[in-house]
Amino acid sequence: MSLLQIEDLHAGYGAADIVHGVDLTVDEGEVVVLLGANGAGKTTTMRAISGLIARHGSLRFDGTDISRAAPDEIVRLGLAQVPQGRGTIADLTVEENLRAGAHVRRDKQGIAEDITRWFDTYPRLAERRKQQAGLLSGGEQQMLAISRAMMSRPRLLLCDEPSLGLSPKLTQEMFASLSRINHEMRMAILLVEQNATLALGIADRGYLIEVGHVGASRSAADLAGDDAIRAAYLGY
Ligand code: ATP
Repeated sequence: MSLLQIEDLHAGYGAADIVHGVDLTVDEGEVVVLLGANGAGKTTTMRAISGLIARHGSLRFDGTDISRAAPDEIVRLGLAQVPQGRGTIADLTVEENLRAGAHVRRDKQGIAEDITRWFDTYPRLAERRKQQAGLLSGGEQQMLAISRAMMSRPRLLLCDEPSLGLSPKLTQEMFASLSRINHEMRMAILLVEQNATLALGIADRGYLIEVGHVGASRSAADLAGDDAIRAAYLGY
C-alpha cells in the first residue's frame, strides 16, 4: 500500500475544474516530482491533496480516506505542505513560526528538541530566531518554510516550487537539504518544481501533468532522458 494514493482527483476553483482525473502515488521514503507547464494544474493538485480547496475523487493517506478531511486534520495525520511562495507568517518571529508549525502537537519536550534540530540544520535561522520572518531573505524564508512544515513531524512533505525566487546557488543548497531530509529521516516528498533538472536529480519517480491530466509514473532517469521532456522542461 502506498503512503499517498490518489485516484481520479478532480479539483478547481468555483465552477472551473482545473484538475480532472489525476492518479498518483507516493510510497514511504520516496521523492516524487510533478512536472508540467505553467498553468497545468500542479499547484492546484497540491492544494487539493492538502484539503485547501474543494476536491473529489479517492484520496488516501496511510490507508485513511482524506477526501473529506479538513486541512488541520490532514496535517495531524502526517501530511504537511510547504506552499508556493513560502508560507511563513511575516509578522511572527522565526521561532514563533516554528512553534506555529507544531500547533497540532502537544509534546512540549519534543517540540523544543525539534526547534533545536532545525536551528542546527539551518544555523542562519538560529542567528535570526527573534527576527520577524518577513524581514528574512528569500533563501532564509524558504528554509523557514520547510522547517516550519517539518515541525508537524510529517511522514510526507508536499513541496511546491521550493526554488522560487532563489539564486542558482541557493537553489542547489535547497535541493541538497531536501535530499538530506529524505535520506536521513526517510521522509517522503512530493515535489513541484520548475527546475526539472535538479528535481529529477533527487527524485525516484515523476509524473508529467498536462492540462489537468497526469501521465503514467516514470522513473526519474527515464524522464531525464526523454527528448521531449528535455526540450520542454530541462532547457537543453
Ligand atoms: P505554475 O507552474 O505556473 O505555478 P501550475 O501548474 O501550478 O502552474 P496552477 O496554479 O495549478 O498551475 O493553476 C492551474 C490553473 O488554475 C491556471 O489556469 C490558473 O489560472 C487557475 N487558477 C489558479 N488559482 C486560481 C484561483 N484561485 N481561482 C481561479 N483560478 C485559478
